[in-house]
Amino acid sequence: MSAPTDSEVKELSPVDFIQLQQYIEYCSKKVKDVLREFDVDGRLAKHRHGECINEEGFRLFLKTYLEVEDFPVDLCQRLFRSFQNSKDSTDSCTQLNVLWTTLFFSQSFSVRALFSTEVFLKDVSCYFSLLEDGQPRDKLEFAFKLYDRDGNGVLDSSEVDRIIAQMMHAASYLDWDVSELLPVLKDMMTAIDADSSGTVSLDEWVNGGMNNVPLLVLLGLKMTQRDGQHLWRMKHFNKPVYCNVCHSMLLGLRKQGLWCTCCKYTVHGRCANRNPAPCTRTYVKSKKETGVPTHDWVSGNCDSKKCDKCQKKIKSLHGLTGKHCVWCHTMRHDECAELDPKVCSCGPLRDHILPPWAIYPVIKERANNGCAGTGDDSELNTTPDGQVLQISPVPNTHPLLVFVNPKSGGKQGERVLRKFQYLLNPRQVYNLSNGGPGPGLSLFRDLQDYRILVCGGDGTVGWILDAIDKANLLVRPPVAVLPLGTGNDLARCLRWGGGYDGEDLCRIMKDIELSSEVKMDRWNVQVITDETQEEGDPVPYEIINNYFSIGVDASIAHRFHTMREKHPQKFNSRMKNKLWYFEFATSETISASCKKLKENLTIECCGAPLDLSSLSLEGVALLNIPSMHGGSNLWGETKKVDTKSSAEEPEVITDPEVLKVTSQDLSDRRLEVVGLEGAMEMGQIYTGLKSAVRLAKTSQVTIRTKKPLPMQIDGEPWMQPPCTIIITHKNQASMLMAPQAKGAGFFK
Ligand SMILES: [Zn+2]
Ligand SMILES: [Zn+2]
Ligand SMILES: [Zn+2]
Ligand SMILES: [Zn+2]
Repeated sequence: MSAPTDSEVKELSPVDFIQLQQYIEYCSKKVKDVLREFDVDGRLAKHRHGECINEEGFRLFLKTYLEVEDFPVDLCQRLFRSFQNSKDSTDSCTQLNVLWTTLFFSQSFSVRALFSTEVFLKDVSCYFSLLEDGQPRDKLEFAFKLYDRDGNGVLDSSEVDRIIAQMMHAASYLDWDVSELLPVLKDMMTAIDADSSGTVSLDEWVNGGMNNVPLLVLLGLKMTQRDGQHLWRMKHFNKPVYCNVCHSMLLGLRKQGLWCTCCKYTVHGRCANRNPAPCTRTYVKSKKETGVPTHDWVSGNCDSKKCDKCQKKIKSLHGLTGKHCVWCHTMRHDECAELDPKVCSCGPLRDHILPPWAIYPVIKERANNGCAGTGDDSELNTTPDGQVLQISPVPNTHPLLVFVNPKSGGKQGERVLRKFQYLLNPRQVYNLSNGGPGPGLSLFRDLQDYRILVCGGDGTVGWILDAIDKANLLVRPPVAVLPLGTGNDLARCLRWGGGYDGEDLCRIMKDIELSSEVKMDRWNVQVITDETQEEGDPVPYEIINNYFSIGVDASIAHRFHTMREKHPQKFNSRMKNKLWYFEFATSETISASCKKLKENLTIECCGAPLDLSSLSLEGVALLNIPSMHGGSNLWGETKKVDTKSSAEEPEVITDPEVLKVTSQDLSDRRLEVVGLEGAMEMGQIYTGLKSAVRLAKTSQVTIRTKKPLPMQIDGEPWMQPPCTIIITHKNQASMLMAPQAKGAGFFK
């Protein structure tokens, strides 16, 4: 074999390098497995000549290792040649140096004239082992020595410039948006020079690079995971369905297969690993592509539906039939899908969808500066190669940011999560068990106009309202509620109902479009246990969104709570819960702890003591919203004589005649105080036969208790030793009130 001429020797580029890493990512073999094949008794033994292999042996090494038939011939040659370059060296580290130098500085590296027909097997295996499982720290240290070309122990500005140029090459190969990348990379390298000395030391390089995913990716030191993984879920189909990979029918008694929650791509279990087409895109590659709406088609399962383009029926072909767009959900014939209009309207859910062409990645310095575990909010909003996603909103829409508490309402939470992941962009739907509300709020934080939907119980809503307070947003987005599970008083009084029963989510989103914004007061509650007392149970919340009570009502809730923890099977449906409440309220003679309640507590409204002397009180409740324990309204209806605007209302009202004509309001910066006269009466109140005694309407309350009493905030009960309780106005949350139901149901 004669030495190749200059024109034949194409040098390795960073792009080759990234390609090679991609092959390695998909292979399941380890270098040591392949080496075994070259042992005396191995399948490839005859290609080994002492410590060396020839080009054919090298080709077989790659083929066996990467498990590909069609590895590019020219890349194979270039790799082989880079190993040949230091045939005279037996030091494998030097060998690696040469190879890496070739990889990174190919433009300036002149290939040595000395060619041999063989390379050292040890060099080859050593190199691939480092690619295979080298840690970022090792790879960074190694790369540092290469970039430090003059070997003076620091990277000076010309060496840094060279690194930046290499990263730009890699970025354009990876299809990143490079239009504004150069200054960002320069800043990134400046930041790595932590002491601003003008040069980068090894320590600075390693510390700065370790957690910088984009840097690692652009240097080829870290492989990016593939974007576009389907979210598989096992499903039984009750009609014939065809596999998107092998195109044959899903057979078997129950036609079982995997289908993607996000795009409905359907496959045999065995076909899921046979290189399926990627899942639908959730963002575009660069800012330039934003604002360009195009359909994203997925094949199959459009049998007998009407084609949106030619209006003819899509006939079943006993195979994958037709295409549907994952955003607007229109269906077309395969050939019609290629025709105009290609513009996607996003269909009936346009107002809510944040389509892929509204999200793009930018490379950004992460603010965590290496302190891991500080609740990194943006983890879910980064691309696999470490770029941060940004929103460029579609005009005249109100993207819906959905938070689902999958633990609410049995399996219902998970079901709702999956449905929203299909109906909307999965990037706008957040599972609260996976990182809480932070990631969603941070992705949406610069938007001016959007809505939030909380799927969960009252407790979940409180959690999100808290998170909104703490996120310090420029605009407080209004919040709608999809009630899951039990105890959804807040959802009920905002007309979202007492519990989700599997209704069509599209209809619910239509209601959200028609909903109106209301302000809801929120209250700080401070419980100061008397110094002489031992601490009681922990106080469940510091904020009241719904109601607060002491005595009879709370005592019932406390027993209820304890019972439910002991015998959860008795409390598995909303109806049963309601019955249990009723039973507690009527059959129990409430313990003496709440008898003579008025002797054991005092109430001040804005500094003025309430006169409780004429009442036989067993409980006191402070109401913010007109619903409690599944729909009971303790304040009761008020005839519509109260037309004054709340602004004129005094800080505190205690006159019974005025209270009689005062209605309850969740945005008047007042709490309603009511008295409960006993357990028997509670039963009547819960069933709507009676309301409690109106005591006051006030903007501030102080309560002092003299003995341990049961209390509750928003349905969470506890036992509280003697204490002082101070309740003050905190702020107003922006909530969405559902439109009035057309044929307002009797059971609403
Ligand atoms: Zn298949
Ligand atoms: Zn998918
Ligand atoms: Zn479409
Ligand atoms: Zn058609």
